[in-house]
Amino acid sequence: MTTTLGTASAGPGEIDTGRLEVGETRDGSPFGLPVAVINGEQPGQTLYMQAVSDGDELNGVGVLQRVVPQLDPTTLSGTILIVGIVNYHAFQIAEHRNPIDDTKMNRAYPGTETGTSSERIAAATFDIATQADLILDLHQGSTSRMLDEVRVRCGKRHRLHDDCLELAKAFGCGYVLDQKGPDGQLARAAPDDGIPTIDPELGGCVGWDETSIQKGVEGVFNVLSYYDFIDGTTELERQTRANGFEQYGSPNGGLVSFEKDLGEQVTSGDVLFEITTPFGEPKATVTADSDGILWRTRRLPQVATGEYVCSVGTDIDSY
Ligand SMILES: [Zn+2]
Repeated sequence: MTTTLGTASAGPGEIDTGRLEVGETRDGSPFGLPVAVINGEQPGQTLYMQAVSDGDELNGVGVLQRVVPQLDPTTLSGTILIVGIVNYHAFQIAEHRNPIDDTKMNRAYPGTETGTSSERIAAATFDIATQADLILDLHQGSTSRMLDEVRVRCGKRHRLHDDCLELAKAFGCGYVLDQKGPDGQLARAAPDDGIPTIDPELGGCVGWDETSIQKGVEGVFNVLSYYDFIDGTTELERQTRANGFEQYGSPNGGLVSFEKDLGEQVTSGDVLFEITTPFGEPKATVTADSDGILWRTRRLPQVATGEYVCSVGTDIDSY
């Protein structure tokens, strides 16, 4: 059976790329999201992947660039549907949010066909995503510094919580943040439609980070073999899980220096960072409120009072 996604159309054993038209730009030109269909020769499940839901998060499209040329539809079981760049307008100007409506795309799911620019793109991509049996929404910690990790966003009481955790374990970044996400995330909306979904967060950088992209490539292939799209076995490895997430801001203005590295264990009371003046005079020392792991930090050293500095993953266990 032929599978069609926008202008891409592939029969069994075929791959095709094209565009999914979702509207017009300000000059009245139609614009489309880049899409790919990989239709396996053998029957199987359907996987949906998307990248650049946030316009400055490019590691996901780096993953797709490396994965897609390695896929052979003649040996694939099942179908893979891909939207390569979701946040079209934000991608054009290398910003996080869609400049047309100043919205974060991952707060707009499941979207509305007659809504704002972001809501319409969310609706169009949600339509495709919900044809699948599994969803990978490739993100990263924006331009901050962050661990390579996978987020499970449906919440612990959700009927698909275990399935999402299993998918996160199969992806296998090593770290999982298991915390109910805000409204409007694809990784929250799609499980409500019965589809296990994870939000791999592939580090954080400006542009591309090769180490994080490689983690993502391995993660996608781990999922493909674990769910029998391709031959091979995925050995499930124990994941370090954070069940909570604490954010720290700066008590005053100045320059931040961190006392802990990303991934380092933190004990309540440990110094996380210091703020100094331009002349090296100490202004403040900030300590951890809880035990955990240093998960994410700001990239630039300068901060104003109250500005975001870092996050600690808390309530750590493993599964
Ligand atoms: Zn994101």
